[in-house]
Amino acid sequence: MISQGSTANVSAKLEYPACPVCGSDQRQFPFRLHRPYSVACCTACGFHYLYPRLIESAIQEAYRESSYYEGGACGYADASYTAQESALRATFKRLLHNLAGRGLTSGDLLEIGCGYGYLLDEARPFFDRRVGTEFSAQGAEIARKTGADVFVGGIEQVSLERKFDCVIATQVIEHVYEPLTFVRQLANHTKPGGHIVIAAPDIGGALRKAMGRRWPSFKAPEHVLYFDFWTLSALMHQAGLTNVRRLPYPHAFPLGLLTAKFGLTMPPLLARPKVWVPATTVAAYGRVSNA
Ligand SMILES: [Zn+2]
Repeated sequence: MISQGSTANVSAKLEYPACPVCGSDQRQFPFRLHRPYSVACCTACGFHYLYPRLIESAIQEAYRESSYYEGGACGYADASYTAQESALRATFKRLLHNLAGRGLTSGDLLEIGCGYGYLLDEARPFFDRRVGTEFSAQGAEIARKTGADVFVGGIEQVSLERKFDCVIATQVIEHVYEPLTFVRQLANHTKPGGHIVIAAPDIGGALRKAMGRRWPSFKAPEHVLYFDFWTLSALMHQAGLTNVRRLPYPHAFPLGLLTAKFGLTMPPLLARPKVWVPATTVAAYGRVSNA
């Protein structure tokens, strides 16, 4: 969680965007989050997005700080990325097996927003070459220990000279300000016939429906876009991908993190086991055509 600063500071850094997918400025507000943020629903295309939002330079400054991954102001230690390591590795291992079952794991892998490199590390048996990008320099340094090439920054840091068979962005696109540009960039780095895999919190999922506005992935100011399978696959089609399909993406969480989100605390030993949550992440993959 990113510190809010003083109210005056924050309002100077706010913008009031049109729908990031279709450009319409007609919207409703199905979910009010903490002030000044709401989740808007575009009345033209049905897409959900954060409104208002921080200007992009303000949020990127926060992502460059290494403390971003350590939970900061969340109020419970298990929110930190390292405390979730074993659950995240289990999640990525299952993702990689699901990809392997569809013939999507061979050759060269690029992961955008690789964090501490847990996915890149689990991907070692599946790919010949592994490359990542990460905004936090400290995160990138840790990720390099997996033997992958990791660039500090976004996808523009990766050379277009050598393209990839598989490009993965998991839990990244919900942070992105121009989603169509982003998916086109992923496609530009993919070999003809290669695949793009995108995963994000699922606003259409059972967990969101059960929790209403208390859904943990309603996270302002970080999450600016909210996808379900239909809006995600429509965006991928719009970016020129073909054969867009849903990918199962069960997500493991430490039990203590889940209970903390409901305001309960657990003794450390009981908090550690993993719980699989099936319906909180939406994932899709699509093919980059031979054109
Ligand atoms: Zn729209």
